[in-house]
Amino acid sequence: MKFKNLLISSVLLAINFGFAQSIDIDQIKTLNGSIGIQPVTHASLILTHNNKSIFIDPHGNSEIYKTNNTPDIILITDIHGDHLDLTTLNQLNTSKSIFIVPQAVANKLPEKYKSQIVVLKNGQGVHRLDYFIQAIAMYNLPEESNSKHPKGRGNGYILSIGDKRIYISGDTGDIIEMRSLRNIDIAFVCMNLPYTMDIHQAASAVLEFKPKTVYPYHYRGKNGLSDVKKFKEIVISKDPNISVKLKNWYR
Ligand code: ZN
Repeated sequence: MKFKNLLISSVLLAINFGFAQSIDIDQIKTLNGSIGIQPVTHASLILTHNNKSIFIDPHGNSEIYKTNNTPDIILITDIHGDHLDLTTLNQLNTSKSIFIVPQAVANKLPEKYKSQIVVLKNGQGVHRLDYFIQAIAMYNLPEESNSKHPKGRGNGYILSIGDKRIYISGDTGDIIEMRSLRNIDIAFVCMNLPYTMDIHQAASAVLEFKPKTVYPYHYRGKNGLSDVKKFKEIVISKDPNISVKLKNWYR
């Protein structure tokens, strides 16, 4: 009966939102409720947990934002338009949203959000609602003065939800701060050139920090989409204990 209800609600969801989007939510069990993982596009995703929504880098005008547009927490990693999108923010109901952002993003957010902003530097963390959110460095390698992503400007994040730790890489090379992470349950790892790193660097880093599950995301580069299937092959051929989840981030 439960299954039947689930099936019926899935079908209703499918009718409402379009089939491809409705079924694209993974559920991860924690000791306190389950986490819903919904890719939106490129670097944008929504995590849901016990009736709370956490939006990461909300961007674009996805249908998904029409059905879920009241974020409790918004994490923004960096200043570029695929991460900080004021048009999309305007379309969301942000009246109760807590913005967790690096200073460079805070500087670009309109005055109306100012009282809702928590600024984190790399390495700092904060408790909000039921969650601990820690900022992790993200930057390009080699470090150069004209880097697209200089160290210290943007934040990757680790979210602790229930007993799970979720890593969001942001736009980064295969930096030591990522390679030295431990006890990550779910990782969202970027891989696109020339903005972040290639699939081989991403695979090498993932094989070192060994998340239980990794989602390639942010993989559209100058020459189209990165070969995430190849990334998956490399990772699971060397460590079959890592689950690699390929999702359609570019509809
Ligand atoms: Zn980006």
